[in-house]
Amino acid sequence: MSKELLSQLGAALVEGNLTDVDLLRRTSVPPAIRILPEANVIKIGGQSFIDRGREAVFPLLEELVENLPRHQLIIGTGAGTRARHAYSVGIDLGMPTGVLSVLGTFVSMQNARMIHYLLAKHGIPFIEPAQFPQLPLYLAERRAVIFMGMPPYTFWQQNPPVGRIPPHRTDTGAYLISEVFGARSMIYIKDEKGLYTADPKKDKGAKFIPRITVSELKASNFRDMVVEPAVLDMMQNAVNRRSIRIINGLERGNLTKALHGEDVGTEITAD
Ligand code: ADP
Ligand code: MG
Repeated sequence: MSKELLSQLGAALVEGNLTDVDLLRRTSVPPAIRILPEANVIKIGGQSFIDRGREAVFPLLEELVENLPRHQLIIGTGAGTRARHAYSVGIDLGMPTGVLSVLGTFVSMQNARMIHYLLAKHGIPFIEPAQFPQLPLYLAERRAVIFMGMPPYTFWQQNPPVGRIPPHRTDTGAYLISEVFGARSMIYIKDEKGLYTADPKKDKGAKFIPRITVSELKASNFRDMVVEPAVLDMMQNAVNRRSIRIINGLERGNLTKALHGEDVGTEITAD
């Protein structure tokens, strides 16, 4: 290619070293576009929500449908207890992290399929990673889609620093979708009000935290966390999605409030 066709940055990138920090810094000068700025990414917890069955799931889906006229929803699913069981058998049989990741992917797919069939009468499709190019059309036509929360790394999942459980699971997969598409919000639907100083199921003295930054959260070194720690790592380098919200979906109205941008649950911000 003739050099005259290249911008200054173009020439530097073609000829330079991609580990040169000054060069890399220049790649963030052109602002990143927000591809789907009206869409809200919602993750429905596996263990914390879907595993609770119809008592938890049916009222939430009603509330989701009520919000369709006002909000576009990209709905991801957790995996939950069945994935933990699959991991335990896989670990016992000597499976590496990448294979455990395959197992977890199919459990989050099971949950996505069930949520999909429950919402099918509203014309809401389930999409696999290969169908994400059709996402804008589905949102424009039907206002919502369902996807499996697990990022489709399968064998390419990285090893965790400790043990063998895949570190990037459904919280992370949903978060990455909200970041790459520049979504309007990232809302986690779980079974607790939000983040506490400890797991409120185990520690009755745990205190609720309505708002916290990623660096404060990392510094506080909680033993138990309400979202996957990998989400916090990714938020530190986020271009678009620099805040997330965790809400209790068992309480009717919380999702609607969160979609309206009201202060409900816990907000975690990158700065
Ligand atoms: P999901 O179903 O989305 O995978 P998890 O079960 O992994 O959700 O995480 C949500 C659970 O995390 C909550 O049900 C809560 O019991 C637990 N938890 C652990 N630590 C905390 C904490 N510091 N604050 C709030 N909840 C916590
Ligand atoms: Mg989880």
